[in-house]
Amino acid sequence: MTTSTGGAVPPDLTGAGRPLTGVAPSPTEQVSVSLVGSTGSIGLQAIDVIEGCPDRFTVVALGAHRSVDALASQARRLRPAVVAIGEPTLAPELARLLPAGIEVVTGTEGLASIATVADVAVNGVVGFAGLSVTLAALGAGRRLALANKESIIAGAPVVQEARRTPGAEIIPVDSEHCAVHQCLRASTAGEVRRLLLTASGGPFRGRTREELAVVEVAEALRHPTWSMGPKITVDSSTLMNKGLEVIEAHELFGIAYDAIDVVVHPQSIVHSMVETVDGAVMAQLSMPDMRLPIGYALAYPARLPVAFGAIDWTLLTTLEFEEPDRTLFPCLDLAYRAGRTGDLAPAWLNAANEVAVQAFLAGRIPWTAIARVVEGTLDRYHTSGDRTRRSVDDVLEADATARRLAESVVTGRGAAA
Ligand code: MG
Repeated sequence: MTTSTGGAVPPDLTGAGRPLTGVAPSPTEQVSVSLVGSTGSIGLQAIDVIEGCPDRFTVVALGAHRSVDALASQARRLRPAVVAIGEPTLAPELARLLPAGIEVVTGTEGLASIATVADVAVNGVVGFAGLSVTLAALGAGRRLALANKESIIAGAPVVQEARRTPGAEIIPVDSEHCAVHQCLRASTAGEVRRLLLTASGGPFRGRTREELAVVEVAEALRHPTWSMGPKITVDSSTLMNKGLEVIEAHELFGIAYDAIDVVVHPQSIVHSMVETVDGAVMAQLSMPDMRLPIGYALAYPARLPVAFGAIDWTLLTTLEFEEPDRTLFPCLDLAYRAGRTGDLAPAWLNAANEVAVQAFLAGRIPWTAIARVVEGTLDRYHTSGDRTRRSVDDVLEADATARRLAESVVTGRGAAA
């Protein structure tokens, strides 16, 4: 494991040099919430949190890509002012299912626009498609409860710029980063030596190379501790999810890659840790329940009065920790490599991974080829232009180029990869 010396790493919870903890809103103050990706795994759990605290939160906007029926039924229950549907051709059907008086907006722009209308926007969109939502919320000076890690990873050059908008802040919903955010509240600038991101190890921890060569889609979708969508579950099985989270941590907290380590912890009880220069380690523990980080992001700097994920200490007996296997799970180091290269390399990594995961889920490539597709794409990484002045178009172009190359690697290697 690597450790940084000096420890001059300031906790930066806001990205804008604001104080470590803000002023808690009074318990009677209603926080308005916009849920983008409301019919997905994060959206459903966010609604659970909100309905558990009806005196604290009001949903003012809902958005989904194409799940019309689920979206309409949520809208009938929660009565938002506006509902967004990503697929424009589904708008008439949605409008027919909604009660009178709810506005319907459509397309990528529609989904992004609803992220600007509430105190907090929850970005629960899957994959790179979440970038416009992230940028819209931050650009409008809103709090972004970020479950869409891909947007801050691939879009870092432009997301960091948007983060400087007055009022804008990111509170991570990713459980590891939410844990780090909580642990950093116990430290001041210069005290942090390193972050320790925990990884469950996924469903294939401990398997041999031969066993990994023949794993099937259904096995990769069977996560041992967390219940999540298919994309992130496959990412967990390759450790790419942890690799992406290393980049996410670097971008969120401004901590050097040499000061971010990964520890495999199969029980998923310790959600991550912060080690300070005196050797002390702060950890955040709870049962694996995404409703805790979601509630944290909605209520911060206050604490939710409802305990999701509380531990029953009479049942918890063992917490294990081990080194990740970087040879059998090469995606972890591919992510470090892209992160250290910086600029648009993480966008390439993310795009190549999305293509590879889709190809695996479609049965086009074996599980072991996911890393090879990502590596084959990253090997051809190149960019042009001024890396200090990146635009959204640069990010979109990088994403498109990397997807094309990744697809050619998938096609070239196919099932034989
Ligand atoms: Mg996570």
